[in-house]
Amino acid sequence: MAAKNIVLLGATGSIGESTRRVVAKHPDKLNIVGIAGRNRWKELAEIAHEFDVKHVAIFDEANCRAAEQSGLFPEGTTFYPGLEGLTAISCLAEADMLVTAIVGTLSLKPTLAAIECGKDVALASKEILVMAGKVVMAAAKAKGVRILPMDSEHNAIFQCLQGERDIDVAKLILTASGGPFREFTAEQMKSVTKADALKHPNWDMGPKITIDSSTMANKGLEVIEAHWLFGKGRDQIQVVVHPQSIVHSMVQYVDGSILAHLSPPSMTFAIQHVLLYPERAEGVDATVDFTKMLSLDFRPPNYELFPCLRLAMEAMDAEGIAPAVFNASNEIAVDAFMADKIGYCDIPRIIEQTLAAVPACDPQGLDEILHADAEARRLAQTFFTSVHA
Ligand code: NDP
Ligand code: MG
Repeated sequence: MAAKNIVLLGATGSIGESTRRVVAKHPDKLNIVGIAGRNRWKELAEIAHEFDVKHVAIFDEANCRAAEQSGLFPEGTTFYPGLEGLTAISCLAEADMLVTAIVGTLSLKPTLAAIECGKDVALASKEILVMAGKVVMAAAKAKGVRILPMDSEHNAIFQCLQGERDIDVAKLILTASGGPFREFTAEQMKSVTKADALKHPNWDMGPKITIDSSTMANKGLEVIEAHWLFGKGRDQIQVVVHPQSIVHSMVQYVDGSILAHLSPPSMTFAIQHVLLYPERAEGVDATVDFTKMLSLDFRPPNYELFPCLRLAMEAMDAEGIAPAVFNASNEIAVDAFMADKIGYCDIPRIIEQTLAAVPACDPQGLDEILHADAEARRLAQTFFTSVHA
């Protein structure tokens, strides 16, 4: 069979790197035809040479011009600047699948465009489902394309659901490492620094998701993501803290049986599963070794210590625009924390204030969602300005 052609948005990032490792392991099955990034364009040039890629999107237009003039890319490379460029590369005629792994919601339009062109989507960027899950899932259904989950929890659930009847599913159980502060007291949370929050105990990921994991906003986003991917309500989605990050999630069936997916905490397992689906082949990383002592612990989450998780659940209950507002205000708050403009405990405070300030509505289409998203970002900025003052 011919190799599957993929376009990789976020090629220079953490998911991008794991995806490249999977592709390099299976050159007969996978082929990268387009790559996209924003700032690290010299790395994009190396990637273009390594995988013989001729289509390169660089969001930042000045970087795109510099890349084009650098002579560092393979001969005959076509460059695609800006959001338009991201959208065009996502729809490349020769592509079979789009891998969406750009941090935040910027890839929403390119992903929708790829769906419109009939491409399957391997989705890492959970933020776009939280913001516009209804629109994305409806578009995929209308076009008959698959949204395949790369996020490890959702990939685990996807694997545990294979061959089962949807009617038999009692609940989806999402595991969470609990991040670096799972043993902290509320008092200790007040003095968390950026360096502390950027040190995840189990996973090596990009900075935004690492901060989100430390606040457990990430698990909140994932609960909403699970709702859209698997069509289950909040009463059928449970979060369990599992510090070892070996069980990536579970599905409980009506008879009480629980199926779990296990692998070491490396994204290559979920990525390879999605890229080769429904085929399987030898993995990139070594798997769990049961000849060695291994303990697996589970405990309920602490919603008081992690208000971001509670706020995400409340946003999901509120439905309508609330999840998009949660996501937008979280992005603004995390950016502000990373820029040393606010303290760690201001992150949930800003989200809560923004959720209270944006009027509830049930958006009917993309324009309304984009409008509410912009309004939430604007309001969140005003709250961090007042926190800072
Ligand atoms: P990173 O910060 O490591 O990488 C982000 C990538 O996005 C980089 O390639 C960056 O390009 C690119 N990018 C950022 N903004 C733009 C833009 N405007 N246009 C084009 N490219 C852009 O993030 P991660 O890989 O950790 O995360 C990516 C997504 O995957 C996130 O949505 C995250 O939630 C999700 N995810 C990540 C997991 C992980 O293990 N890392 C696990 C599950 C989900 P450049 O470097 O060139 O600026
Ligand atoms: Mg995850």
